[in-house]
Amino acid sequence: MRQGLEELRRKAIQDIQTAKDSEALNQIRVKVLGKKGSLTTILRGMGALAPEERPVIGELANRIREELESALEEQSRVIAEQEQNARLAREEIDIFLPGRKMKIGHPHPLQLVLEEIEEIFLGMGFTIAEGPEIETDYYNFEALNLPKDHPARDMQDSLYITPEVLLRTHTSPVQVRTMEKLWPNPIRIIAPGRVYRRDALDASHSPMFHQVEGLLVDEGITFGDLKGVLTVFAKKLFGEDRQVRFRPSFFPFTEPSAEVDVSCGCSGKGCRICKGAGWLEILGSGSVNPMVLRMSKYDPDKVSGFAFGMGVERIAILKYGINDIRLFYENDARFLAQF
Ligand SMILES: [Zn+2]
Repeated sequence: MRQGLEELRRKAIQDIQTAKDSEALNQIRVKVLGKKGSLTTILRGMGALAPEERPVIGELANRIREELESALEEQSRVIAEQEQNARLAREEIDIFLPGRKMKIGHPHPLQLVLEEIEEIFLGMGFTIAEGPEIETDYYNFEALNLPKDHPARDMQDSLYITPEVLLRTHTSPVQVRTMEKLWPNPIRIIAPGRVYRRDALDASHSPMFHQVEGLLVDEGITFGDLKGVLTVFAKKLFGEDRQVRFRPSFFPFTEPSAEVDVSCGCSGKGCRICKGAGWLEILGSGSVNPMVLRMSKYDPDKVSGFAFGMGVERIAILKYGINDIRLFYENDARFLAQF
């Protein structure tokens, strides 16, 4: 029996020391020290021994059990260390891997153009005025010399909320609100903001777009002042080398009215952007209609003024040579990254 125990000890120590992982170690523990393990089985046979041999064998068996337990513990520590080292090796930082690129946002092209327009007018002494996007029929149409039966209302398909309330179709109601607020003082404002039309979204139309409206009212303002201010503006925005021309036009709230064109960057040769015309239409303008002044309590015999309005999308399209208005609203990072 003593021999059997020694043999078991030798074999078990060897197995423990060559165990590769904690799972293998656990199997050895069960196989040797478990309830049906080999050491336990041997000890059960002790009853057949002579009484004087039992304590000796018992003591030997206990020593072997302790020895095996501490060998298991030692090997388990070694394995844990190996496993941790292997994990650390796997997780080692590869300092030669290229870093992840930080994505940086870009100002939206409409924001860029709007800021540029604002800068130019602020430099000429204008201030910025704002008004509501949900507007009454009175401010959006009537106070601008567009009574209910006026045919020019058809020019602007509107989004009505109630028969008297609508989403503003232009920023012009801010003119009226400003005149009411500042009367009888002189006015020199621009009003940037969103406007709404009943249009389906396609390459050149959007149900929502941005306008900048301008209004100047003071004593002795002439059409010459309008031409001067808008010529400076157009050249600052598109380049000093550009030509500016004024074409007679019609708007109910200005009289006389003019559309303003700037010569195309193709120097009149004709290109995709100007559609061969050599000129780009950039805004509408005119002397404030005396009727409009009178409705806001200004006396047309004492003061006069001019107003203008432009689409921010249109300016951005012409300035950057963009061919589809929808690009402004899709937030495609590849498009926005170009600005
Ligand atoms: Zn051109």
